[in-house]
Amino acid sequence: MLRVAVVGSGPSGCYTAQSLVQLDPEVLVDVLDRLPCPYGLVRYGVAPDHEKIKSLQNNLRTVLEHERVRFLGGVPVGPGGVPAARLRELYHAVVYCVGAATDRHLGIPGEDLPGSWSATEFVSWYSAHPDCAADGFVAGARSAVVIGVGNVAVDVTRMLARGPAELHPTDMPQPALSALAASRVSEIHMVGRRGPSQARFTTKELRELGDLPGTEVTVDQRELALDPAYEAPSDLSPAQRRNVEVLRGWATAPAREPAPRRIRLRFFLRPVELLAHGGRVGAVRFERTVPDGQGGVAGTGRFEEIEAQLVLRSVGYRGVPLEGLPFDPATGTVPQLAGRVLREGAAAPGEYVAGWIKRGPTGVIGTNRPCAKETVISLLEDAPALVREGRPGDPLAGLRADGIRPVEWAGWQAIERAEAELGASLGRGVVKLPDWASLLAAARSTTS
Ligand code: NAP
Repeated sequence: MLRVAVVGSGPSGCYTAQSLVQLDPEVLVDVLDRLPCPYGLVRYGVAPDHEKIKSLQNNLRTVLEHERVRFLGGVPVGPGGVPAARLRELYHAVVYCVGAATDRHLGIPGEDLPGSWSATEFVSWYSAHPDCAADGFVAGARSAVVIGVGNVAVDVTRMLARGPAELHPTDMPQPALSALAASRVSEIHMVGRRGPSQARFTTKELRELGDLPGTEVTVDQRELALDPAYEAPSDLSPAQRRNVEVLRGWATAPAREPAPRRIRLRFFLRPVELLAHGGRVGAVRFERTVPDGQGGVAGTGRFEEIEAQLVLRSVGYRGVPLEGLPFDPATGTVPQLAGRVLREGAAAPGEYVAGWIKRGPTGVIGTNRPCAKETVISLLEDAPALVREGRPGDPLAGLRADGIRPVEWAGWQAIERAEAELGASLGRGVVKLPDWASLLAAARSTTS
């Protein structure tokens, strides 16, 4: 009987487990995660006010509750945890679905000033990620700059603009809720280095900015007009055209009563430096860019400063190397062919990848489904030879013999109960536990 370890319980890990049990009637799958909680970026990345996307957890739950799938949380793979080579001893095959765990850097002066954060840090804070030690993002800030115009930039911009009444029903941790509810940030500048037609956000997410209570969205008509595609929208893809239309609507909307908060969408500005003021960030200096005719931009030597006591750098995620696996630093991914890990150009039997560590940090949650299926088809083609290699019985016994104490499904359900109880005690719905100690205490309160 084929035994497979899937490392990572986010969407790509869950879809991999789902494809495995759907395509092989006998396979047994363990889904390992270093956290005691499942669902990866669906729990720790999707914005708390995006309830519909978060409800995807219900689909992922069905996978993890399948009779031939087992969730084993609190199991780190790599340094300080289970070495990759040990996993290969315990399982016939291992599929790494570990995502892209870090953020990309701008590489400009002042990037590390106090008050400058990666969007990932901010998202981790309001999502209650137990590794998030940071706090005080909005304290003392009136103006914020979000660098980048992808969907994460839209998420963090929107969360900065949400008022207390909209934050209250979410599952965000109480300290983040209190801080955002008391926030004085009234200007949020979301800035792209290229033009509106090259922005990476999707139209649905963009439109949502226009529906925020007490928030006005402004777009500078002159920056839209810099985009060569603005006057010739027929050259655009339908998705690009929809974005440009939404932006054009905001740029040409008649002036209204000033709102308490403003989101200013800016384009053709390349960040060149974060400027300090009183020991922390005070402004971002940008160079005006113009289209270079090839999809990129060129500098103009003209500069602009935008005041900001809070800077969120939202310029994409990046995969990190996994000990014991090959890694391509240029792409931040594991070299692979149809999901099979390549070692020195040759497929390494028994080792696979799916999701962002396979194809890079792009696409929406659903993109992981076909990606996982491709990997599983490769694995199942290799399965007869892998099963012939043989493996010792239940891998969980092996993990326990190594001193690992996984959080099993009952432990996760105990965390869910503790989060419901915490919410009830605060007069809210479910509220996430934000630290390792409380998560593990809840998980260990069951006898599983
Ligand atoms: P992304 O879509 O790759 O966007 C990154 C942004 O950063 C781009 O605007 C990019 O501009 C800009 N950028 C990169 N390097 C820069 C630099 N040095 N200076 C200035 N700007 C720079 O990344 P993301 O927003 O992190 O999203 C990752 C993935 O998650 C995407 O596939 C996204 O759709 C998905 N996601 C989806 C949702 C949703 O569906 N609601 C929510 C969150 C995330 P250039 O284009 O010029 O490089």
